[in-house]
Amino acid sequence: MKEVKLLTPDRDPMGAAMADYLARGHASRLRVFSSQFDEDEIPVKELFRTYSQMPLLERIALDRAEGRILDVGAGSGCHTLALQAAGKEVEAIDISPLAVEVMRQRGVKQVRQADLFDDRFCGAYDTILMLMNGSGIIGRLENMPLFFRRIKSLLHPDGAVWMDSSDLRYLFEEEDGSFVIDLAGDYYGEVDFRMQYKEVKGEPFDWLYVDFQTLFCYAAENGFRAELVKEGKHYDYLARLTRTGL
Ligand code: SAH
Repeated sequence: MKEVKLLTPDRDPMGAAMADYLARGHASRLRVFSSQFDEDEIPVKELFRTYSQMPLLERIALDRAEGRILDVGAGSGCHTLALQAAGKEVEAIDISPLAVEVMRQRGVKQVRQADLFDDRFCGAYDTILMLMNGSGIIGRLENMPLFFRRIKSLLHPDGAVWMDSSDLRYLFEEEDGSFVIDLAGDYYGEVDFRMQYKEVKGEPFDWLYVDFQTLFCYAAENGFRAELVKEGKHYDYLARLTRTGL
């Protein structure tokens, strides 16, 4: 069972960074730590990207989003606002209270603080968007059945989920082009992260990068068809998930 977790403002570094950026036009470093990688940073400005600044994979998902749309993990609301501007009906959710506040200030009409995995969050949508490594929200492979149960309850029978991810296998690539992956270990796309903005430290969280084949198999086992819509420039892809009626 996945723990339901809404953030609080004192433990919401990404939200704090976005609030600063919105108020002052710039932000300090949003630092990312992981037990698997070196320290990294998220450029806060990129969380405020406009439609024309978005990667092609994201623009395709926005162009094809229709009906009642749910933007899951909406962040600063960049996708929600682009859809609103295109006259589409869209609702945003995020576990971050400060992201929700930023979205309200930016003019997102329908937004609430909610966890996708919380059964109390319900609705009926034609399109569900999970963008910017949106598979991350699933956390770990073991949460896949629960994830598909949740989207089954939120999605119209003929609706679609649009999700992007990266295949992290390039991190294990040898000079000769082969891949060395420890099949007995955890799945190579399961990552842990922790973020910090100024003095605000977030709790560690699981983030799932999933390769398309793995996503395809889990989808099939859970009554969904996964279609590879478009590949990006660097081991990333956009997938469309639809129900098979099982
Ligand atoms: N989609 C945005 C933000 C991506 S960052 C963009 O493309 O810019 C991922 C976001 O997902 C964060 O704002 C985080 O707070 C949110 N999030 C993480 N887990 C979530 C969950 N279980 N339910 C809803 N939102 C979640």
